Amino acid sequence: MTRVIASSQPVQEGVPVADYRVNLLGLTEQKLTDFFLGIGEKKFRAIQVMKWIHHHGVDDFSQMSNLSKALREKLQQIATITAPEVLSVNTSADGTRKWLIRLEGGSCIETVFIPGKGRGTLCVSSQIGCSLDCSFCATGKQGFNRDLEVHEIVGQLWLAARSFDSLDPCKKRVITNVVMMGMGEPLLNFDNVVDAVNLMMADNAYGLSKRRVTLSTSGLIPEIDKLGDRTDVSLAVSLHAPNDELRNTLVPINRRYPINDLLAAVNRYLQKLPDTHRRATIEYTLIDGVNDSLDHAKQLAEVLRVVPCKINLIPFNPFPGTGYKKVKPAQAKKFQEYLINAGYITTQRTTRGDDIDAACGQLAGAVNDKTSRSRRFSAHQATYIDEPIQIQ
Ligand code: SF4
Repeated sequence: MTRVIASSQPVQEGVPVADYRVNLLGLTEQKLTDFFLGIGEKKFRAIQVMKWIHHHGVDDFSQMSNLSKALREKLQQIATITAPEVLSVNTSADGTRKWLIRLEGGSCIETVFIPGKGRGTLCVSSQIGCSLDCSFCATGKQGFNRDLEVHEIVGQLWLAARSFDSLDPCKKRVITNVVMMGMGEPLLNFDNVVDAVNLMMADNAYGLSKRRVTLSTSGLIPEIDKLGDRTDVSLAVSLHAPNDELRNTLVPINRRYPINDLLAAVNRYLQKLPDTHRRATIEYTLIDGVNDSLDHAKQLAEVLRVVPCKINLIPFNPFPGTGYKKVKPAQAKKFQEYLINAGYITTQRTTRGDDIDAACGQLAGAVNDKTSRSRRFSAHQATYIDEPIQIQ
């Protein structure tokens, strides 16, 4: 169960008191029910409190007017509703908004809102940094610090929705979609991510449709096989290459879980879903001269025949120190047209938020790297980057 240190508890002089309160922001309905039963209260209190937190954005028990005064006081002693701290908010000329969020331990993550026609998508992080080191990814170059707690994951949605005054399900939603595509590999933080996405989809919490919450993975087969037993979130796979030889260089986890085995696992996941028409999304970052030829498109069309899917093409966003370049627009168009003609629904993501470094693959935050990868990367690239990535 997620806990935070209670700052308001009495401290005996010279003796640090390890007093903890439960952070209710990260509890699923079942866990919140268990919490209330555990403190001798009725289970319907769980739904009342969930609605205060997730529908009304309330983080102060004294405002929960349908709870008795005695219960409100009791909750103030043993529980808290605490989201991570927002350090800064930047809004791009195109409406993209980026929050820089500091977490316990001092590292920072980034959460990005991308407005679109009739929709608003929030890109949420699941880890501080990432251990998988995909060669085209700015997050991967920052190394890894730790997994996010449930309240830190769902707290990104809570903070963003509150800033738009968009929590109340009776009002028009500003954030209509969530993609777990920020910093980190979500399936390496399996239990916390599952609880967080289930909260995002729960009617008594944020109430998003399961088609509008997407978990994006680089392809961890054992976790994909477990996922369908715990949630029915939409699944995206960061493929980025149509054959194992190339994918081994772009997404190193492919050496353990090659493409055909991965796509078979995606099929097993889709077959577990109650809604039989669901497709996976295949994410494919187009990198100039690396994976963007028509031969690559042809291979991709062939390899994907085994799985119901749509394809999302993402022009690579260069970051300091990368050796890769952005795909040429004409080549991206040809690549897309080939796949459409081959029968695939294929979209191309428009680059948004360039002026605030919020485009895909640019999320970096400030990671207290425990892996030393960021230092090795900076040293390796020092000959051609203007400024090394800052590590705090
Ligand atoms: S692309 Fe995803 S899995 Fe790969 S290093 Fe970046 S965050 Fe990690």
